[in-house]
Amino acid sequence: MLNFYPGPSKVYPDVRHFMQEAYDEGFLGTPHRGDQFVQLSRATVALLKRKINIPQDYYIFFTSSATECWEILIQSLTTSKSYHIYNGSFGEKWHEYAKRIRPKAEGLKFDVNEAMPVEQLAIGSDTELICITQSETANGTQVSNSSIITLQNRYRDKLIAVDATSSMAGLNLKMMKADIWFASVQKCFGLPSGLAVMACSPRAIFRAKQKADRAHYNSLLFMYEKMLNYQTTYTPNVLDIYLLRRVLENRPTVKLLDEELTERANNLYTFFSEFSDFKLLVENEEVRSKTVLALQGSERLIDELKKRAMHHDIRLGNGYGEWQRNTFRIANFPAILDEEFEELKRFFLHYYG
Ligand SMILES: *Cc1c(COP(=O)(O)O)cnc(C)c1O
Repeated sequence: MLNFYPGPSKVYPDVRHFMQEAYDEGFLGTPHRGDQFVQLSRATVALLKRKINIPQDYYIFFTSSATECWEILIQSLTTSKSYHIYNGSFGEKWHEYAKRIRPKAEGLKFDVNEAMPVEQLAIGSDTELICITQSETANGTQVSNSSIITLQNRYRDKLIAVDATSSMAGLNLKMMKADIWFASVQKCFGLPSGLAVMACSPRAIFRAKQKADRAHYNSLLFMYEKMLNYQTTYTPNVLDIYLLRRVLENRPTVKLLDEELTERANNLYTFFSEFSDFKLLVENEEVRSKTVLALQGSERLIDELKKRAMHHDIRLGNGYGEWQRNTFRIANFPAILDEEFEELKRFFLHYYG
Protein backbone atom coordinates (compact mmCIF):
# COMPACT_ATOMS: atom_id res chain seq x y z
CA MET A 1 0.00 0.00 0.00
CA LEU A 2 1.33 3.42 -0.96
CA ASN A 3 0.22 6.01 1.56
CA PHE A 4 -0.01 9.69 0.58
CA TYR A 5 -2.43 10.61 3.35
CA PRO A 6 -1.29 13.83 5.06
CA GLY A 7 -1.76 12.51 8.58
CA PRO A 8 -1.69 9.97 9.95
CA SER A 9 0.77 9.36 7.18
CA LYS A 10 3.32 6.83 6.04
CA VAL A 11 5.63 5.84 8.88
CA TYR A 12 9.28 5.08 8.23
CA PRO A 13 9.62 1.34 7.50
CA ASP A 14 12.38 1.20 10.15
CA VAL A 15 9.68 1.79 12.76
CA ARG A 16 8.83 -1.90 12.49
CA HIS A 17 12.10 -3.12 13.95
CA PHE A 18 12.52 -0.09 16.23
CA MET A 19 9.30 -1.17 17.93
CA GLN A 20 10.73 -4.63 18.46
CA GLU A 21 13.90 -3.12 19.87
CA ALA A 22 11.95 -0.84 22.21
CA TYR A 23 10.41 -4.00 23.62
CA ASP A 24 13.69 -5.90 23.79
CA GLU A 25 15.49 -3.00 25.48
CA GLY A 26 12.80 -2.82 28.15
CA PHE A 27 11.40 0.60 27.30
CA LEU A 28 7.76 -0.41 27.28
CA GLY A 29 7.43 -0.99 31.00
CA THR A 30 10.05 1.44 32.19
CA PRO A 31 9.05 3.98 34.89
CA HIS A 32 8.75 7.50 33.52
CA ARG A 33 10.58 8.89 36.57
CA GLY A 34 13.43 6.42 36.18
CA ASP A 35 16.89 6.84 34.74
CA GLN A 36 16.21 4.87 31.56
CA PHE A 37 13.41 7.23 30.57
CA VAL A 38 15.30 10.37 31.58
CA GLN A 39 18.28 9.35 29.43
CA LEU A 40 15.97 8.69 26.50
CA SER A 41 14.20 12.01 26.93
CA ARG A 42 17.45 13.93 27.21
CA ALA A 43 18.92 12.29 24.12
CA THR A 44 15.73 12.96 22.15
CA VAL A 45 15.71 16.64 23.10
CA ALA A 46 19.35 16.99 21.98
CA LEU A 47 18.60 15.27 18.68
CA LEU A 48 15.55 17.43 18.02
CA LYS A 49 17.63 20.55 18.44
CA ARG A 50 20.41 19.27 16.25
CA LYS A 51 18.44 17.63 13.48
CA ILE A 52 15.62 20.11 13.02
CA ASN A 53 17.41 23.34 13.86
CA ILE A 54 15.66 24.31 17.06
CA PRO A 55 17.63 27.07 18.82
CA GLN A 56 19.77 25.75 21.68
CA ASP A 57 18.09 27.92 24.29
CA TYR A 58 14.53 26.85 23.42
CA TYR A 59 12.77 24.47 25.78
CA ILE A 60 11.36 21.27 24.31
CA PHE A 61 8.18 19.62 25.62
CA PHE A 62 6.36 16.40 24.84
CA THR A 63 2.56 16.46 24.65
CA SER A 64 0.02 14.03 23.21
CA SER A 65 -1.12 16.02 20.19
CA ALA A 66 -1.05 19.32 18.35
CA THR A 67 -4.59 19.91 19.57
CA GLU A 68 -3.35 19.66 23.14
CA CYS A 69 -0.70 22.29 22.32
CA TRP A 70 -3.44 24.67 21.10
CA GLU A 71 -5.09 24.44 24.47
CA ILE A 72 -1.93 24.59 26.58
CA LEU A 73 -0.86 27.82 24.89
CA ILE A 74 -4.18 29.56 25.38
CA GLN A 75 -4.48 28.45 29.01
CA SER A 76 -0.94 29.25 30.01
CA LEU A 77 0.02 32.27 27.90
CA THR A 78 -3.15 34.36 27.75
CA THR A 79 -5.36 35.89 30.40
CA SER A 80 -7.12 38.30 28.05
CA LYS A 81 -6.87 37.02 24.50
CA SER A 82 -5.06 35.56 21.55
CA TYR A 83 -5.29 36.63 17.91
CA HIS A 84 -5.59 33.98 15.20
CA ILE A 85 -4.69 34.50 11.56
CA TYR A 86 -5.79 31.60 9.35
CA ASN A 87 -7.15 30.50 6.01
CA GLY A 88 -8.24 26.93 6.70
CA SER A 89 -9.79 24.47 9.11
CA PHE A 90 -6.87 23.81 11.42
CA GLY A 91 -6.17 27.48 12.10
CA GLU A 92 -9.89 28.08 12.48
CA LYS A 93 -10.32 25.23 14.96
CA TRP A 94 -7.51 26.61 17.09
CA HIS A 95 -9.41 29.91 17.18
CA GLU A 96 -12.65 28.07 18.11
CA TYR A 97 -10.98 26.32 21.04
CA ALA A 98 -9.36 29.56 22.15
CA LYS A 99 -12.76 31.30 22.26
CA ARG A 100 -14.12 28.61 24.55
CA ILE A 101 -11.33 29.32 27.01
CA ARG A 102 -10.93 33.08 26.47
CA PRO A 103 -14.15 34.40 24.89
CA LYS A 104 -12.46 37.56 23.63
CA ALA A 105 -10.05 35.66 21.37
CA GLU A 106 -10.03 37.26 17.93
CA GLY A 107 -9.51 35.87 14.46
CA LEU A 108 -8.81 37.04 10.95
CA LYS A 109 -9.51 34.81 7.99
CA PHE A 110 -7.63 35.37 4.74
CA ASP A 111 -8.01 33.90 1.28
CA VAL A 112 -6.19 30.73 0.21
CA ASN A 113 -4.57 32.57 -2.69
CA GLU A 114 -3.36 35.45 -0.56
CA ALA A 115 -0.17 35.69 1.49
CA MET A 116 -0.80 36.17 5.20
CA PRO A 117 -1.85 39.87 5.34
CA VAL A 118 0.75 40.99 7.86
CA GLU A 119 0.77 44.64 6.82
CA GLN A 120 -3.00 45.06 7.28
CA LEU A 121 -3.14 43.64 10.78
CA ALA A 122 -4.41 45.79 13.61
CA ILE A 123 -3.72 43.83 16.76
CA GLY A 124 -4.60 45.56 20.03
CA SER A 125 -2.42 46.01 23.09
CA ASP A 126 -4.40 43.51 25.19
CA THR A 127 -3.54 40.67 22.79
CA GLU A 128 -0.90 38.46 24.35
CA LEU A 129 -0.41 35.74 21.78
CA ILE A 130 -0.53 35.69 17.97
CA CYS A 131 -1.39 32.27 16.55
CA ILE A 132 -0.63 31.17 13.02
CA THR A 133 -0.54 27.92 11.07
CA GLN A 134 2.65 27.57 9.06
CA SER A 135 1.41 24.81 6.80
CA GLU A 136 -2.39 24.64 6.58
CA THR A 137 -2.83 20.92 6.04
CA ALA A 138 -6.51 21.40 5.18
CA ASN A 139 -5.91 23.30 1.94
CA GLY A 140 -2.21 22.98 1.04
CA THR A 141 -1.09 26.55 1.70
CA GLN A 142 1.84 27.78 3.72
CA VAL A 143 3.09 30.93 5.39
CA SER A 144 6.59 31.90 4.25
CA ASN A 145 9.57 32.44 6.55
CA SER A 146 9.61 36.05 5.42
CA SER A 147 5.97 36.65 6.45
CA ILE A 148 6.80 35.28 9.89
CA ILE A 149 9.81 37.60 10.11
CA THR A 150 7.67 40.60 9.15
CA LEU A 151 5.08 39.59 11.72
CA GLN A 152 7.73 39.41 14.40
CA ASN A 153 9.13 42.79 13.41
CA ARG A 154 5.70 44.40 13.62
CA TYR A 155 4.74 42.88 16.97
CA ARG A 156 7.94 42.50 18.92
CA ASP A 157 6.29 42.59 22.33
CA LYS A 158 3.81 39.80 21.56
CA LEU A 159 4.41 36.10 21.66
CA ILE A 160 4.00 34.32 18.35
CA ALA A 161 2.92 30.68 18.30
CA VAL A 162 3.19 28.61 15.15
CA ASP A 163 1.32 25.39 14.42
CA ALA A 164 3.83 23.62 12.17
CA THR A 165 2.22 20.20 12.35
CA SER A 166 2.63 19.30 8.70
CA SER A 167 6.00 20.97 8.13
CA MET A 168 8.19 20.71 11.24
CA ALA A 169 10.93 18.13 10.67
CA GLY A 170 10.50 18.57 6.92
CA LEU A 171 11.13 22.25 6.26
CA ASN A 172 13.97 24.35 7.57
CA LEU A 173 11.82 26.76 9.57
CA LYS A 174 13.35 29.90 11.06
CA MET A 175 12.50 28.99 14.61
CA MET A 176 14.26 32.03 16.07
CA LYS A 177 11.54 34.16 14.53
CA ALA A 178 8.71 32.91 16.71
CA ASP A 179 8.42 31.96 20.36
CA ILE A 180 6.52 28.71 20.10
CA TRP A 181 6.53 25.97 17.48
CA PHE A 182 4.75 22.65 17.70
CA ALA A 183 3.81 19.59 15.66
CA SER A 184 2.41 16.15 16.25
CA VAL A 185 4.59 13.36 14.93
CA GLN A 186 2.18 11.51 12.60
CA LYS A 187 2.90 13.91 9.72
CA CYS A 188 6.37 15.09 8.66
CA PHE A 189 8.18 13.10 11.35
CA GLY A 190 6.94 9.83 9.82
CA LEU A 191 5.92 8.28 13.15
CA PRO A 192 2.77 6.79 14.67
CA SER A 193 0.31 9.23 16.26
CA GLY A 194 0.01 9.95 19.98
CA LEU A 195 2.89 12.34 20.54
CA ALA A 196 3.64 15.98 19.78
CA VAL A 197 6.75 18.10 20.18
CA MET A 198 6.60 21.72 21.30
CA ALA A 199 9.53 24.17 21.38
CA CYS A 200 9.31 27.36 23.47
CA SER A 201 11.64 30.35 23.62
CA PRO A 202 13.02 31.56 26.97
CA ARG A 203 10.69 34.56 26.59
CA ALA A 204 7.66 32.28 26.31
CA ILE A 205 8.67 30.55 29.54
CA PHE A 206 9.21 33.92 31.20
CA ARG A 207 5.65 34.95 30.26
CA ALA A 208 4.29 31.63 31.50
CA LYS A 209 5.91 32.35 34.85
CA GLN A 210 4.28 35.80 34.95
CA LYS A 211 0.85 34.36 34.13
CA ALA A 212 1.38 31.62 36.71
CA ASP A 213 -1.35 29.35 35.38
CA ARG A 214 -1.38 26.23 37.56
CA ALA A 215 -4.95 25.17 36.96
CA HIS A 216 -4.34 22.31 34.55
CA TYR A 217 -2.43 19.04 34.48
CA ASN A 218 -0.78 20.39 31.36
CA SER A 219 -0.11 23.95 32.52
CA LEU A 220 3.04 25.08 30.78
CA LEU A 221 4.67 25.89 34.11
CA PHE A 222 4.19 22.34 35.39
CA MET A 223 5.56 21.01 32.14
CA TYR A 224 8.53 23.36 32.38
CA GLU A 225 9.30 22.35 35.95
CA LYS A 226 9.20 18.66 35.10
CA MET A 227 11.18 19.09 31.90
CA LEU A 228 14.07 20.70 33.81
CA ASN A 229 14.64 17.07 34.72
CA TYR A 230 13.68 15.70 31.28
CA GLN A 231 10.38 14.44 32.65
CA THR A 232 6.72 14.97 31.83
CA THR A 233 3.72 15.87 34.00
CA TYR A 234 1.94 12.63 33.14
CA THR A 235 3.03 9.23 31.88
CA PRO A 236 4.04 10.03 28.32
CA ASN A 237 4.01 7.97 25.16
CA VAL A 238 7.39 6.40 25.92
CA LEU A 239 7.26 4.14 22.86
CA ASP A 240 6.73 7.08 20.52
CA ILE A 241 9.52 9.07 22.19
CA TYR A 242 11.77 6.06 21.70
CA LEU A 243 10.78 5.82 18.03
CA LEU A 244 11.37 9.55 17.65
CA ARG A 245 14.90 9.16 18.98
CA ARG A 246 15.66 6.24 16.69
CA VAL A 247 14.21 7.89 13.60
CA LEU A 248 16.02 11.18 14.27
CA GLU A 249 19.35 9.40 14.69
CA ASN A 250 19.09 8.12 11.12
CA ARG A 251 17.69 11.23 9.54
CA PRO A 252 19.63 13.80 7.54
CA THR A 253 19.49 17.36 8.84
CA VAL A 254 16.38 19.36 8.10
CA LYS A 255 18.33 21.67 5.80
CA LEU A 256 18.99 18.81 3.45
CA LEU A 257 15.45 17.46 3.76
CA ASP A 258 14.06 20.90 2.98
CA GLU A 259 16.06 21.01 -0.26
CA GLU A 260 14.84 17.57 -1.27
CA LEU A 261 11.22 18.27 -0.40
CA THR A 262 11.30 21.62 -2.18
CA GLU A 263 12.60 20.05 -5.35
CA ARG A 264 10.05 17.26 -5.18
CA ALA A 265 7.24 19.72 -4.46
CA ASN A 266 8.19 21.82 -7.51
CA ASN A 267 8.22 18.71 -9.60
CA LEU A 268 4.81 17.58 -8.30
CA TYR A 269 3.25 21.00 -8.82
CA THR A 270 4.44 21.03 -12.41
CA PHE A 271 3.18 17.52 -12.92
CA PHE A 272 -0.28 18.15 -11.44
CA SER A 273 -0.82 21.43 -13.25
CA GLU A 274 -1.25 19.58 -16.54
CA PHE A 275 -4.49 17.70 -15.98
CA SER A 276 -7.88 18.84 -17.15
CA ASP A 277 -10.16 16.76 -14.89
CA PHE A 278 -8.84 18.42 -11.77
CA LYS A 279 -6.65 21.40 -10.89
CA LEU A 280 -4.49 22.62 -8.06
CA LEU A 281 -6.67 24.19 -5.36
CA VAL A 282 -4.12 26.94 -4.69
CA GLU A 283 -3.46 29.07 -7.74
CA ASN A 284 -0.93 31.44 -6.23
CA GLU A 285 2.42 29.64 -6.48
CA GLU A 286 3.88 31.79 -3.71
CA VAL A 287 1.60 30.38 -1.03
CA ARG A 288 1.56 26.72 -2.03
CA SER A 289 2.62 24.31 0.69
CA LYS A 290 5.73 22.30 0.01
CA THR A 291 4.52 19.42 2.15
CA VAL A 292 0.80 19.06 1.35
CA LEU A 293 -0.78 19.39 -2.10
CA ALA A 294 -4.52 19.90 -2.57
CA LEU A 295 -6.25 19.14 -5.87
CA GLN A 296 -9.76 20.15 -6.77
CA GLY A 297 -12.34 18.66 -9.11
CA SER A 298 -16.03 17.75 -9.26
CA GLU A 299 -17.29 15.79 -6.27
CA ARG A 300 -18.09 12.85 -8.47
CA LEU A 301 -14.65 12.74 -10.05
CA ILE A 302 -12.85 13.08 -6.74
CA ASP A 303 -14.87 10.29 -5.21
CA GLU A 304 -14.22 8.01 -8.17
CA LEU A 305 -10.54 8.92 -8.32
CA LYS A 306 -9.91 8.12 -4.67
CA LYS A 307 -11.70 4.77 -5.01
CA ARG A 308 -9.77 3.92 -8.13
CA ALA A 309 -6.50 4.78 -6.41
CA MET A 310 -7.46 2.58 -3.44
CA HIS A 311 -8.14 -0.24 -5.85
CA HIS A 312 -4.51 0.17 -6.94
CA ASP A 313 -3.31 0.19 -3.33
CA ILE A 314 -2.73 3.95 -3.34
CA ARG A 315 -4.17 5.91 -0.44
CA LEU A 316 -4.80 9.56 -1.24
CA GLY A 317 -5.82 12.09 1.38
CA ASN A 318 -9.49 13.06 1.62
CA GLY A 319 -10.42 16.70 1.37
CA TYR A 320 -10.78 18.52 4.66
CA GLY A 321 -13.17 21.07 6.14
CA GLU A 322 -14.91 23.18 3.52
CA TRP A 323 -12.99 21.36 0.79
CA GLN A 324 -13.90 17.90 2.05
CA ARG A 325 -15.80 16.66 -0.98
CA ASN A 326 -14.27 18.47 -3.92
CA THR A 327 -10.57 18.06 -3.20
CA PHE A 328 -8.08 15.34 -2.43
CA ARG A 329 -4.68 15.82 -0.82
CA ILE A 330 -1.22 14.38 -1.32
CA ALA A 331 1.43 14.48 1.38
CA ASN A 332 4.99 15.29 0.38
CA PHE A 333 6.61 14.05 3.59
CA PRO A 334 10.20 12.83 4.00
CA ALA A 335 9.22 9.21 4.74
CA ILE A 336 7.67 8.83 1.30
CA LEU A 337 10.16 7.64 -1.32
CA ASP A 338 10.74 9.17 -4.75
CA GLU A 339 9.88 5.80 -6.32
CA GLU A 340 6.50 5.93 -4.64
CA PHE A 341 5.82 9.29 -6.25
CA GLU A 342 6.86 7.86 -9.61
CA GLU A 343 4.28 5.14 -9.17
CA LEU A 344 1.67 7.73 -8.21
CA LYS A 345 2.45 9.69 -11.35
CA ARG A 346 2.09 6.58 -13.51
CA PHE A 347 -1.34 6.04 -12.01
CA PHE A 348 -2.43 9.57 -12.87
CA LEU A 349 -0.96 9.49 -16.37
CA HIS A 350 -2.62 6.19 -17.09
CA TYR A 351 -6.12 7.20 -16.02
CA TYR A 352 -6.22 10.96 -16.38
CA GLY A 353 -3.39 11.87 -18.75
C1 LIG B 1 -3.05 17.38 11.91
C2 LIG B 1 -3.02 18.77 12.36
C3 LIG B 1 -3.44 19.14 13.64
C4 LIG B 1 -4.02 18.18 14.62
O1 LIG B 1 -3.09 17.27 15.05
P1 LIG B 1 -3.44 16.26 16.25
O2 LIG B 1 -2.17 15.55 16.50
O3 LIG B 1 -4.54 15.37 15.74
O4 LIG B 1 -3.92 17.07 17.39
C5 LIG B 1 -3.33 20.47 14.00
N1 LIG B 1 -2.83 21.39 13.14
C6 LIG B 1 -2.43 21.06 11.91
C7 LIG B 1 -1.88 22.12 11.02
C8 LIG B 1 -2.49 19.74 11.49
O5 LIG B 1 -2.07 19.42 10.26
